[in-house]
Amino acid sequence: MKSVGLKRAGVIVAVVCLVLGFVLYWNLRTVTIEESKRKEETARKEPPRKPLRPGKLSWTLDEAMDAYARQRDNAYLQYVMLQLAHNEKRTPDVLERFPELNPGRGREAHRVDLFDLFSGYHSIQESLQLEVMLAGQKGEPDVTSAGKATPLPKLAGPAVKSHPWKTMVAGRKPNVSELSRCVPVDFYLIEFRTLTKLLDTVASAQDWMTYYRSQANLDGTSPPTRQRLRTQLLLDDGPAQRPFFDAIVHNVALAGSDPFVNEGSDVTMLFQFQSPDFFQSGIQQIQELVRKQHPHVREQKGQHLGVEYTALTTADRAVHLYYADPKTNLHIRSNSLVGLKRVLETTLGRASSLGDSAEFRYIRTLMPLGAAEEDGLIYLSDAFVRRLIGPATKITEARRLIGYNHLRMISHAAQMYRTQFGKAPKTLAELEQANCAPGKFNAGKLKCPFGGSYTLSEDGAFGVSSILGTAQFLTPCCELPTPDASAAEAEAYAQFLNDYERYWRTYFDPIAIRLQAAAKRIRVETLVLPLIDNSIYAFLGQVVGKQPEPLDHLPVPSRNLFSLNLCVNREALVQAISTSARLHRAKLARAVQGVTAPTTPAYPSNLPNLLWEDMKNVEALPSPLEDLDLNKFGLAQEKLDAFLERGIGNQVGLHFYDTQIMFDINLTQFIGSVFQMAARTPIAQTEDTAKGARLWGLVEAEGLAYAASSLIAPIYVAVPIKDATLVDNFLAHLDSVVVKASNLRSDDRLGVLRVSTDFYHLQNRPGLKVRAFGIRYGPLRYRIFWTRIGDGLYLTNQPYVLDDLHAAHARWLKTGSSPPGPAGHALMRIRPEHWNKALEGYKLGWAENNREACQRNQSMLSAAARAFSASPPVSMLARDDKDRERLIFDYAKKMYGVDFACPDGGEYVLEADGKTCRCTVHGTLDQPIQANAPAKNSPVGHLMRDFKDLHATLTILPEGLRAVVVMERK
Ligand SMILES: [Zn+2]
Repeated sequence: MKSVGLKRAGVIVAVVCLVLGFVLYWNLRTVTIEESKRKEETARKEPPRKPLRPGKLSWTLDEAMDAYARQRDNAYLQYVMLQLAHNEKRTPDVLERFPELNPGRGREAHRVDLFDLFSGYHSIQESLQLEVMLAGQKGEPDVTSAGKATPLPKLAGPAVKSHPWKTMVAGRKPNVSELSRCVPVDFYLIEFRTLTKLLDTVASAQDWMTYYRSQANLDGTSPPTRQRLRTQLLLDDGPAQRPFFDAIVHNVALAGSDPFVNEGSDVTMLFQFQSPDFFQSGIQQIQELVRKQHPHVREQKGQHLGVEYTALTTADRAVHLYYADPKTNLHIRSNSLVGLKRVLETTLGRASSLGDSAEFRYIRTLMPLGAAEEDGLIYLSDAFVRRLIGPATKITEARRLIGYNHLRMISHAAQMYRTQFGKAPKTLAELEQANCAPGKFNAGKLKCPFGGSYTLSEDGAFGVSSILGTAQFLTPCCELPTPDASAAEAEAYAQFLNDYERYWRTYFDPIAIRLQAAAKRIRVETLVLPLIDNSIYAFLGQVVGKQPEPLDHLPVPSRNLFSLNLCVNREALVQAISTSARLHRAKLARAVQGVTAPTTPAYPSNLPNLLWEDMKNVEALPSPLEDLDLNKFGLAQEKLDAFLERGIGNQVGLHFYDTQIMFDINLTQFIGSVFQMAARTPIAQTEDTAKGARLWGLVEAEGLAYAASSLIAPIYVAVPIKDATLVDNFLAHLDSVVVKASNLRSDDRLGVLRVSTDFYHLQNRPGLKVRAFGIRYGPLRYRIFWTRIGDGLYLTNQPYVLDDLHAAHARWLKTGSSPPGPAGHALMRIRPEHWNKALEGYKLGWAENNREACQRNQSMLSAAARAFSASPPVSMLARDDKDRERLIFDYAKKMYGVDFACPDGGEYVLEADGKTCRCTVHGTLDQPIQANAPAKNSPVGHLMRDFKDLHATLTILPEGLRAVVVMERK
């Protein structure tokens, strides 16, 4: 028994020892492993993180709905939500929560307009996707295959007329650039003096776009177009290369056949230079440097019309360069062989060029080549606009949009598959079998509209079309086969054309924009040609008078924030209300009456005599004064006439003061939304259609908020004067009139609130005669103050404005006159140096917009992270967390086709859960952080700090309406 006990004890001891030993060994091993790990990690400075379990990140329908609720313009979230709802048969739940997705809300509101001139790819894709997701493949037949097909050339194009360019040029021979003579007449042209000027302009435009996107659209993304083109063309335009281009290249031009540069378009660059050897060796050097980063570039040679060209391409079109040197001083590089060939044909004189066209020559008589105001010119020709809305481009582009939607849907399906299963899909069929797609790709509504086939990219992340390429860069329209139009397409196009011709234009107008770019100053000028027989234009010309004048010559107080100055054709106005003019109009009216009155027997023989008899006792029509009954208060017509004829000048200015903002209004967004609505609403529709009503509703609602705030906010009206004594006399005469008028009383209908008026001289400053007129409505008061200071007559709603104006005038007398300001017929000027107080009120609003734009990015990045965090290739390629984060964000960029940047300069970090994206400035979606003001290095911050001046002038000239915008930075 004992021995058994001993034996058992021995076994127990042995087992315990074994366990202890194992534990000890294990611990030791763990310690050493962890030590070596720690060593590695101190090198990387990264905390340890558990590997993610596959499927851990998968979506539930409720999660997807919450994510979509946060960002309703995210097409990927829309896809995931609708697909999950379909799988779980809960589509009605989704439609109940998001009624805007409901097709039951009317076919009209839901129809996707593929021909809409202003919708972006993004929003059209979202609508196309929604249609497929809700209807499935069983829905209506595809527009591209319905009905009988018509070859495109048989479809009628726009019948809009062209200006009579030849007559307009009238034999003049203005200079045109060599490069403009190499560009086809139906291509757009952007030509610059130097590459640096072009790049500076692009950089400036990008700054403004970033600002506009983040503030007006609350969007922190930007299209990576510039980088993409640089890579495709194997060019480096960095600061290191600028001296080379500046020294050797004389002129540079960009040209292409359509404006869809962000989505995929042909872009051709033309360089003109003096020393061919220097240029060729330089450009080859740059090209080789960039080429080194892309090992799979294929090189080929070819010939077109006897000119040899070189092709450097990769299969995914990331590098896609065709270049040729048709002349010793001309180098052409294009990202499209079709584009290159068109330019070569034009260069060799086989096709008509833009530079030789009558319309371009006419524009060059108005905007001469080599003018100081021109560093660059952007030109969209009559032929370019005509082709753009012609049936071939429109229908090809509409089909390309359908294909683009399919490619995006394949990407969405693949990312959903990754998220749900933690692995990459291998084939498109797998996506459908796993319930990640609404149907079979390459079939039914998901068939390529150009007859190509879709496949999944090698990494199982994106769709690839045998004809359209990828969603990151679609095959340019000019390279696509021209399809036959289906009956549905032909009908839709006819409808589009009908709308276009009815509402938009009677003539095609080319668009010419002249740019002057310096480091701190950008000047943009455009000319809108007058439409022939345009009565509105003629009327405008009459209202503003003939001669443009300097428009900003009165002194301005230091809190003047915004000015609007207008020229008024005073002579014409005075003449129109003069006694003789009124008598003339009365006689005319009587004559008309005499002829048409049935009681007078009118025969041609006795007509003049009869009329003459009738004219003897005609009296002049009543003057505006009599109409307003102002003479009742003793206002003398001759004093008013003298005041108008000789007292005041030809301008009137409305000035807004720097003030604490009462209502928080997103001005940029307001202007943006009005602009977008206006652009979508043809002029003829503004008055009577639903679109027009919406536009006016918007203007009214937001305009009302402004009007309400301007009742309190200080504003003033300034009228430059010609004769101070005359004006003073008239103001003194006016006093007696206003005193009489100030005794008016009237009760409102209920007899509760009384309207009364009030007049007095305000003891304001010595030497300043300030008059005040008040209106009281019950407890409310509104006052107007007016006086003459120096050469200006001023009206304002706040008396201290007059003090400021007086002080500004005194300063002005001491320092001498300031520059008279730009000349024109109308001037709008923002004075950023004065906007201290107003700025305080805006800062928080701007910062909030920045945060919202950032959160939109976070939502997109987070959805992408769920897909890529735990699935290959990221899970296989990433060596550490930092690596993984970079890879995931790279995939996110490709997936959405945009770059992400926090508008306040924050960095994006992926949290350990593999799906939460945190901004170092704004926190996470669940715990957002907000600063009081936008960051100093944000676009808005830059704007606040550097923005010096912005003014826009309009001048009405016989040759057209000239608009100039100048922006200056400190
Ligand atoms: Zn941020």
